[in-house]
Amino acid sequence: MAKDNKTKNLNQPLGGNDMPRFAGPATMMRLPARETAEGLDVCFVGVPMDIGVSHRSGTRFGPRQIRAESSMIRPYNMATGAAPFDSLQVADIGDVATNTFDLKNSVELIEKAFDGILSLGCLPLTLGGDHTLTLPILRSMAKKHGPVALVHIDAHADINDEMFGEKIAHGTPFRRAVEEGLLDCNKVYQIGLRGSGYSPEDFEWPRRQGFRVVTAEECWWKSMTPLMQEVRETIGDHPVYVTYDIDSLDPAFAPGTGTVEVGGLNTWQALEIVRGCRGLNIVGGDLVEVSPPYDTSGNTALIAANLLYEMLCVLPGVKYGGAG
Ligand code: MN
Ligand code: MN
Repeated sequence: MAKDNKTKNLNQPLGGNDMPRFAGPATMMRLPARETAEGLDVCFVGVPMDIGVSHRSGTRFGPRQIRAESSMIRPYNMATGAAPFDSLQVADIGDVATNTFDLKNSVELIEKAFDGILSLGCLPLTLGGDHTLTLPILRSMAKKHGPVALVHIDAHADINDEMFGEKIAHGTPFRRAVEEGLLDCNKVYQIGLRGSGYSPEDFEWPRRQGFRVVTAEECWWKSMTPLMQEVRETIGDHPVYVTYDIDSLDPAFAPGTGTVEVGGLNTWQALEIVRGCRGLNIVGGDLVEVSPPYDTSGNTALIAANLLYEMLCVLPGVKYGGAG
């Protein structure tokens, strides 16, 4: 396999036997850094921002910390048999230069950056950043693919009409996405929703749009594997975007985030959800809302890094070896 990779010149993460895992480049999974997405099948890209958040800040440091905590991830997926670096050309293309003084301008800059990535035929996996960033990515996705299906894992529906009078914020992206026709609403899953709300409308509005809302309580004590079978049957081969808000996890697992809700998913359910996306026609994904100042152990960023790796492992075209 190593010989094959050399022939195809596929990038490999820098191994722990070549450079200690606490040293070397601070890129995602210690992959080569690239200036652009040119020649890549998949890129990791950071969108460092927290000016869309409504409560605790800090997600501007998310991409950097996710990269740091990704340094121990090895290339082969022991559980599923996925060997993503034997199949795809992957690199870390750094961060989108957001305008930290202007949220609306940042949203424009993100859309432009993703238009560029998609125009090169590269599939982006994004390190967030607050959840506002998913709106400009979906705008870019819809230009290329038409309205996309969505797998959205989150404690929150993020369908507020406005927050403090603002239409653009981390709690509004999926309301805007519906209004703008970016989603195939009958192929949208929101998984892990919970907590207190302003009214039942918080979950009823998405249901009226055709979304399938799966509350955290519906997930308690259960494997997510049957749910993901339903997701695959519903979405079929339609282009689908995966957006993973780390606050979908219980704060016992992932306290390093801004808007914490009790009674969330556990890490093995998170793995079942992402692994259950295998077979879908994934066109991009993101992992958002990691706030390192509230992540004193680094575990939130470490889980985030692993979930991004698992997303990479289920992308179309990934080879499976071993028992997978
Ligand atoms: Mn969210
Ligand atoms: Mn959330």
